Amino acid sequence: MSAERLEAAAEPGRELPLDSHLHTDLSPDSDVPIDVYAALAVERGIAELAITDHVDFDARDPAYDFASFADRERSVRDAAERWAPRGVAIRFGAELTYNRTWDADVRAHLARHSYDFTIGSVHDWPDSPYVPSRVRTWATGRALDEVLAPYVAEIAAAAGSGLFDTIGHLDVVRRYLHGTVSAPEIFGAVELFEPALRALVDSGTALEVNSSGYRHPDGEAYPGPPLVARYRELGGLAVTAGSDAHRKGHFAWALEAGYRVLAEAGFTTLAFRRGGDRVAVELPARVRGPGPGMASPNTGRVGSL
Ligand SMILES: [Zn+2]
Ligand SMILES: [Zn+2]
Repeated sequence: MSAERLEAAAEPGRELPLDSHLHTDLSPDSDVPIDVYAALAVERGIAELAITDHVDFDARDPAYDFASFADRERSVRDAAERWAPRGVAIRFGAELTYNRTWDADVRAHLARHSYDFTIGSVHDWPDSPYVPSRVRTWATGRALDEVLAPYVAEIAAAAGSGLFDTIGHLDVVRRYLHGTVSAPEIFGAVELFEPALRALVDSGTALEVNSSGYRHPDGEAYPGPPLVARYRELGGLAVTAGSDAHRKGHFAWALEAGYRVLAEAGFTTLAFRRGGDRVAVELPARVRGPGPGMASPNTGRVGSL
């Protein structure tokens, strides 16, 4: 990891244009009132936030029916009005848990409801081998491609669905496999994620860099730098970045390190949507590095592992 990125990985973000992945107390696994994030944004100079509370489609998942669309929308729109005069823009987003099993339900939800910005994510779905009670036994002794296959099939389907603005934490399967498969093993087999990376490129869906990975044991963003570099090489053009905070102390945490992963792969802007067409948000000059000459996708500047 570059020295700047290492430093930024241990810091709350300051003076940054956008954190596009945040959970409030309208997610079952967060306890943060929306005004707490807004106040922190004012204090730290984070100009724009997307509130992306969980939307789950399997009745066994915790966010299923946790907060209604109307309640989530009212919470965000009201906060946006309260905080706009203080210089913080707050957008209404959602993180929708995708799986092919409930593809039709996700489609129906998005046809009925309008968000400013959507993240599609694959989590450890109830029937998956990745749930904590069985993942270790299942994964031990299996070949890496076999271990990743069920996850990659779902994330590739999410990426190819065309339903979402961006795909969240593309290799979060690293977290479920922690202790069984290491990050370097996964980063050494980036080609196993290519079905998902190609699906992103083909569908024009953005790739998120999620800085919550810096808080987790292997200490790398989701996805790790080698996957971001490969996405770029394959022709990927659109990227987003978010801290995925569920606690006050995680607001914009290591977000600058996430930005740096993108800059090191050659990206200069974030893709975002404010309810209309996609817009570009410039990465701050201080993370963009030495300029376009060094930022071509083939310079291999992906940082160390
Ligand atoms: Zn998630
Ligand atoms: Zn999230």
